[in-house]
Amino acid sequence: MGYSSLGSGPTGENGAAYRPVEVSVAATVLYMSETPAEYEVTVVGGGPAGLTAALYTTRLGHETAVVDRGGGRAAMMADTHNVIGVTEDVSGPAFLETALEQVTGYGADHYRDFVSDAERTDEGRIRLSAGDVTIDTERVVLATGFTDGRPDPPAPRTARGLHYCLHCDAYMLADAPVYVMGTGSSAAHVAMIMLNFTDEVDLLLNGDDPEWDEDTDRQLRAHPVEVIHEEVTGVENDDEGWLEAMEFADGTGREYRGGFAMYGSEYNTDLAEQLGCALNDDSTVAVDDHGATSVEGVYAVGDLTPGHNQVPTAMGEGARAGIDIHYDLREFPKSLDELEAGGAVGAGDVPGMSDRLRRHARQHEGNVATSEAAEAADD
Ligand SMILES: Cc1cc2nc3c(=O)[nH]c(=O)nc-3n(C[C@H](O)[C@H](O)[C@H](O)COP(=O)(O)OP(=O)(O)OC[C@H]3O[C@@H](n4cnc5c(N)ncnc54)[C@H](O)[C@@H]3O)c2cc1C
Repeated sequence: MGYSSLGSGPTGENGAAYRPVEVSVAATVLYMSETPAEYEVTVVGGGPAGLTAALYTTRLGHETAVVDRGGGRAAMMADTHNVIGVTEDVSGPAFLETALEQVTGYGADHYRDFVSDAERTDEGRIRLSAGDVTIDTERVVLATGFTDGRPDPPAPRTARGLHYCLHCDAYMLADAPVYVMGTGSSAAHVAMIMLNFTDEVDLLLNGDDPEWDEDTDRQLRAHPVEVIHEEVTGVENDDEGWLEAMEFADGTGREYRGGFAMYGSEYNTDLAEQLGCALNDDSTVAVDDHGATSVEGVYAVGDLTPGHNQVPTAMGEGARAGIDIHYDLREFPKSLDELEAGGAVGAGDVPGMSDRLRRHARQHEGNVATSEAAEAADD
């Protein structure tokens, strides 16, 4: 395998293709010449799901790369809610910066890049092509998330009155006048759900026709939600940019402190589709309990897959996939069949981790091996 020869960072087959450059969050960006970089595991997407998968595969001894273009849903969090141990004043970008420092600190490589193409190579690996790097990898974790459909302007500011995460932000709007914007059944349901938090909920059609089904319509009529048909023509914010009120085409105005836009999700499934992964009817990527897709060696985690779209669930899925990949890739113990074919494992065959990651682990704070012992082990 290519990774076993990685003495001081990933190389192409000719062993000298990349120039490491340090950037602000201690991530290492490696620029490519002609030959692909080689990794055991490559994670596409550096949100909570992808970075957790990378944390596990790196700490479990597998040469891992993260390729991430930046942005994504976690980066939109003004405050972080529902993540136990993380205080709410931590913003999404700060949360991600710490996470990336952790992952690269354990020895993963990070590329700030957009992966546009994915294909199976003749050798059975997966080749990922990004702007500045091409990677051949044994396993790939797709953690590319989705993009929220947004209302046309004028609209409140994101995270200052315009929200996309019910389970995160409904709590902040308890007892406040609230809107839900959208025309489908999901908008109608979210409006009714908000009655668990406040008694002032309007459903804004913003000049469009309702599209919810008949049952939803009956349900909605039996709940104290006011449906407003008029187009939104203006938004008023307070000095801190938080929503105070909206104006409508008929000249009326209503006070709101916040609400949710329900205009669907565009799943970032391009790479999954290029690799032939099965999708569900709602366009999420179909996975088993460990995040394995229908295509061998390809995993998907986080918002890209079915389930609650939350940081803790994304992290849990990343962890499960990372551990499953480790079970799949780890060298020892050899099975009885392997031992019969290849003989007993000799002292020179262990440990199974690459030299580079072992060195990283030995240098990491809390490692029990002393530097003297580490030097002795090198001799
Ligand atoms: C405004 C807002 C506030 C939220 N607040 C909370 C909260 O307080 N608590 C909570 O638990 N949840 C919150 N959520 C939900 C949470 O952000 C998501 O559930 C979580 O980020 C999903 O993680 P992910 O890693 O799957 O996806 P993302 O965080 O979306 O990360 C996906 C990453 O993949 C990258 N990417 C995509 N395609 C490619 C490609 N081809 N090549 C390279 N990179 C690629 C993206 O740029 C992005 O960096 C919020 C969501 C929003 C929109």
